[in-house]
Amino acid sequence: MKRYSAFAVAREALRDHTGWGRAWHKAQPKKRYDVIIVGAGGHGLATAYYLGKNFGITNVAILEKGWLGGGNTGRNTTIIRSNYLQDPSAAIYEKARGLYETLSQDLNYNVMFSPRGVMMLAQTEHEVRGYQRTAHANSLQGVETEFISPKQVKELCPIMNIDGPRYPVLGALWQPRGGTARHDAVAWGYARKCSEMGMDILQKCEVTGVRTEGGKVQGVETTLGPIDCDKLGLVVAGHSSVLAEQAGFRLPIESLALQALVSEPIKPCMDVVVMANTVHGYMSQSDKGEMVIGGGTDGFNNYTQRGSFHHIEETVRALIETFPMLSRLKMLRQWGGIVDMTGDRSPIISSTPVGGIFINCGWGTGGFKAIPGSGWAMAELMAKGHSPLAEDFGLNRFVEGRFIDESVAAGVAH
Ligand SMILES: Cc1cc2nc3c(=O)[nH]c(=O)nc-3n(C[C@H](O)[C@H](O)[C@H](O)COP(=O)(O)OP(=O)(O)OC[C@H]3O[C@@H](n4cnc5c(N)ncnc54)[C@H](O)[C@@H]3O)c2cc1C
Repeated sequence: MKRYSAFAVAREALRDHTGWGRAWHKAQPKKRYDVIIVGAGGHGLATAYYLGKNFGITNVAILEKGWLGGGNTGRNTTIIRSNYLQDPSAAIYEKARGLYETLSQDLNYNVMFSPRGVMMLAQTEHEVRGYQRTAHANSLQGVETEFISPKQVKELCPIMNIDGPRYPVLGALWQPRGGTARHDAVAWGYARKCSEMGMDILQKCEVTGVRTEGGKVQGVETTLGPIDCDKLGLVVAGHSSVLAEQAGFRLPIESLALQALVSEPIKPCMDVVVMANTVHGYMSQSDKGEMVIGGGTDGFNNYTQRGSFHHIEETVRALIETFPMLSRLKMLRQWGGIVDMTGDRSPIISSTPVGGIFINCGWGTGGFKAIPGSGWAMAELMAKGHSPLAEDFGLNRFVEGRFIDESVAAGVAH
């Protein structure tokens, strides 16, 4: 595949852009692969990429029932941070954040990583104590964060009203190298590299059944016919329970719709990411100028990619308290994704009761930021049967009561 570069852009400009090839090849399913990954979201594609890059395993197919990146990966608000409380979480999210720093160079694809800084507002005394505790934990974990004062918050984000009517800003947990990246580009960049390594990405190929024999995986049934494999990775986010049922085991996962919305584009007014977890809303400004706003999850399980209307109202009302200037903006569009939630709000990267089947799910409302680290760990687990980064995220933690509780620690996990 041709390298993307400034020189290539100039060369193509001179010949009316007639020389660009396909970013990934159009594949037909083979009869058998060493590894099949179900789900061409960020986590599935990153798993395939690191299987090839780190372990030389390239006889791999990635099966996607829709189009690649069309699940949560293309529907999120792109916040990247690693300021989690628990050690296993900080380790995997910081690994991911570190990989994001050089992902564009690694993939030769501009993922527009923008380490503009992320602040999580403390708007109650409880949050002040919680975030100060997280800042201390982060310094022990080697994650660069600090607890900053309301004055520093105002300097970093002048459009904020820090004397809010209900919840004044009492400080914030600030991660200067957190930020955002272009979500589609992350999927596209990984897909291009996977294709370059000879892997097959099969879109519009839904897995409808998992074939096992003697407690070991044999292959999958798909809408494009049966395909055999030695190892199977299930990386399907909100559909994890559905695939697990096909393979014959159960998961401690609930599927819920989470939604987001964007405003009309305006001139640059905010160059940091702000999360206001007490009033519940979070916001950044996209390169196009739209204010990208994240809302809440539905209060009941469902598989709709919309979300309930009252969340839009509640989220916008909450953010207007902190950003009064938002009241003058029109909202352009709204959408939802199906997120996969565990009870402790931590992911599952694990072997399963079926030999040769591995699962990566449970990233819930906050897995975009984890894509490179999760793919790295899942690939290691699938190739070697063990990964230090994934060790604590096994399914057995639910049997042993060894939870990695980020729900109480973070309040909200985007
Ligand atoms: C509105 C919203 C905002 C969010 N904001 C953030 C944020 O700011 N920061 C952050 O870190 N995270 C955020 N997230 C969470 C993040 O998007 C997800 O955790 C992450 O994208 C999950 O990636 P994935 O690859 O596991 O899943 P997905 O991208 O959903 O990919 C799974 C794929 O599996 C496919 N699939 C399902 N069933 C089958 C089948 N039977 N056969 C074949 N393919 C199948 C699906 O079509 C899908 O493409 C947000 C999510 C949403 C919905």
